Amino acid sequence: MKQFPEVKKNFGFGCMRLLMTEQNEVDLDNFKTMVDRFLAAGFNYFDTAHPYIDGKSELAIREGLVKRYPREAYVLANKLSAFRLEREDEVDPFFETQLEACGVDYFDFYLLHANSEEEDKKFRQINAYEHVKRFYEQGRIRHIAMSFHDKPEVLDRLLTEHPEIEAVQIQFNYLDYENPDVQSRGVYEVCRKHDIPIIVMEPVKGGSLAMMNDEATRVLTDLGGSPASYAIRYAAGFDGIFMTLSGMTDVKQMDDNLSYMTDFVPLNETEQAAIQSVVKILRGQNVIPCTACRYCTDGCPMNIDIPTLFKRKNELVQFTQQEAMIRRRYENVLKRSGKASDCIECGQCEDICPQKLPIRDLLKEVAAVFEA
Ligand code: SF4
Ligand code: SF4
Repeated sequence: MKQFPEVKKNFGFGCMRLLMTEQNEVDLDNFKTMVDRFLAAGFNYFDTAHPYIDGKSELAIREGLVKRYPREAYVLANKLSAFRLEREDEVDPFFETQLEACGVDYFDFYLLHANSEEEDKKFRQINAYEHVKRFYEQGRIRHIAMSFHDKPEVLDRLLTEHPEIEAVQIQFNYLDYENPDVQSRGVYEVCRKHDIPIIVMEPVKGGSLAMMNDEATRVLTDLGGSPASYAIRYAAGFDGIFMTLSGMTDVKQMDDNLSYMTDFVPLNETEQAAIQSVVKILRGQNVIPCTACRYCTDGCPMNIDIPTLFKRKNELVQFTQQEAMIRRRYENVLKRSGKASDCIECGQCEDICPQKLPIRDLLKEVAAVFEA
C-alpha cells in the first residue's frame, strides 16, 4: 500500500467544528492554542473544505497555522466541493480561491468532496477529474484523493475507473460498521481490495458517540477513558487506515485526543468487548429498522422524507443527551420535506417498502415526539 512519509502520525485535525465567538467568527486564540498543542505533540495533518463554517475554516487555517508555521511543518488537505459549483469554468477560480484563502501555494491532499453515484455525475459534467489531474501535474496538489458517501459497489467502480486516486476518506465508526444505511464495513473492504490508503471521518459519528445515554456511557467510562477515546481508537486500529480525523472544537477535546493518540495503542480485547456492548445497547433501543433504501420517497404525494424522519426519531432514542440538537436537525429536514403529520395515509410507501415497515403508524410516532 502507498505510504505518505510527509504525514507524521495517524491522527488529524478536522477543522469543521471550530469554536466560534459571539460575533460568529472563529475564536482564533482558541484555534491557535489547539494548533500549537497539536503540532507540539508531533501531529501535522489538517483537514478543511470551503463549505466548512462558510469559508471561515480556510481563513482560520491561514491565520492560525499557515502564517505562524513554515510550510513543511504541516500537511494540509482541502476539497473540491462540486456541489457548490454549476459549471466547468468555475472549477479553476474555486481552486485558486481556496489556495488564496488558506495562504498556500499547494495542497498536500486535494479530495473530490463527498463523491457518490450522484456526485460522480456532477464531477464528470464539470470535468473535475481532468482539472484535478492538471493541478497535480502542476505541483499544486501533492496527492489526489476523494471523500466518499455511498454504497461499496459505487466505490468499487470509482476506484477502478480512477487509478489517479491515492487515498479515500470514508465515514467509519463502530456504530456504522454494520449499519446497512452507511455500510462502513463494505466500503472499508472495497478500499482494502484496491489496497488504497484510508482516511477516516466521523469516528465519533459527529460527536454522537461522545454523548450517548447513561447506560452506554457508563460501559466505556468504567474502563477509565472518555467515550470519544474508544471511538477514535476503534477506527484507528484497523489495517489500512493511515489517518483518523477528529473535528475538534476546544482545547479540552484536543488534550483528551492527544492523551491517547500521541502513543497510539489499538483497543484490547476487553475494550473491543465493551464497544460491542455499547453497540447492543444503542441498537436495542426500539429503533425503527429502516435501511434508508429510499424506495418509498419518490411516490409520496406529500413529499415526506420518510427515512430521514425515521433517522431523527432513532437518534432521539439513541442519543438522549443531544435532544436539542436532534430537534433542530428535524426542523432543518422540514425545509425540504413534508412533516410526519402531513401523511394522508395513502399507503403507497408501505406497498413498496422491502422491510414491510408500518410506515403510517411509525410516522404517527414521529409526529408525537417531534410535533407535540
Ligand atoms: S402513506 Fe403517507 S408517507 Fe406513505 S406515501 Fe402516502 S402520504 Fe406519503
Ligand atoms: S422503503 Fe422502507 S426501508 Fe426503505 S427507506 Fe422507506 S421506510 Fe426505509
